[in-house]
Amino acid sequence: MIAENICSVRERIARACVRCGRDPGQITLVAISKNRSAEEVGEAIGSGITDIGENKIQEARLKADNRDLKVLRWHMVGHLQSNKVKDAVRMFDLIHSVDSEELAQEIDKQAARMDKVQDILIQVNTSQEESKFGLRPEALNETFLMIKALKNVRIKGLMTIAPLVDDPEKVRLHFRRLKELRDRIYELRMTDGGRLNLSMGMSDDFEVAIEEGADIIRIGRAIYE
Ligand SMILES: *Cc1c(COP(=O)(O)O)cnc(C)c1O
Repeated sequence: MIAENICSVRERIARACVRCGRDPGQITLVAISKNRSAEEVGEAIGSGITDIGENKIQEARLKADNRDLKVLRWHMVGHLQSNKVKDAVRMFDLIHSVDSEELAQEIDKQAARMDKVQDILIQVNTSQEESKFGLRPEALNETFLMIKALKNVRIKGLMTIAPLVDDPEKVRLHFRRLKELRDRIYELRMTDGGRLNLSMGMSDDFEVAIEEGADIIRIGRAIYE
């Protein structure tokens, strides 16, 4: 089941890439494995998945302790509380959910203690829903520059979570918005030349996200159900 699902997700990625002239090899597929057993994750890895995403530290750690799971990269996609930062820095290769300067400072502090430079994405609330985490788009540039000044944090891009809707076309504007925000950062020459990846698109809308420039897609149900 999981193997077939992954196959079909990869085909859908390839078709979306053909539509917009992109190279599927440039798109990172993260299997979001929250609430999935180590056995299921093992099956996904057996089918070529290299990147595993979790939204709770505790659950990720249980799986990371499982020596049978050969995960190449761990992604933290859930909201991160400052008292959990130490554990997050210890175990995740990329934290997608940095949404304040304070959180970035705490990550910087813990990473410095571990002699690590922590890769992060800045989460933006592109749909401006009150219930969602993420920076307001208007606050992005200022926060970006403050986080960029931290020595043990490296900004690798931006992340957004689109609203749940029945028709993926309805979230296209939010993905487009994230790309515009990224391109604006390029225009203002706020980076040192490194690429800023866009983490956007889930099971119901990843094809639209790819068409709008997603570099990292986060897929749970389409892989595991
Ligand atoms: C659960 C989750 C996903 C995956 O969602 P699916 O709809 O199951 O593909 C992606 N991103 C985040 C932040 C999530 O919490």
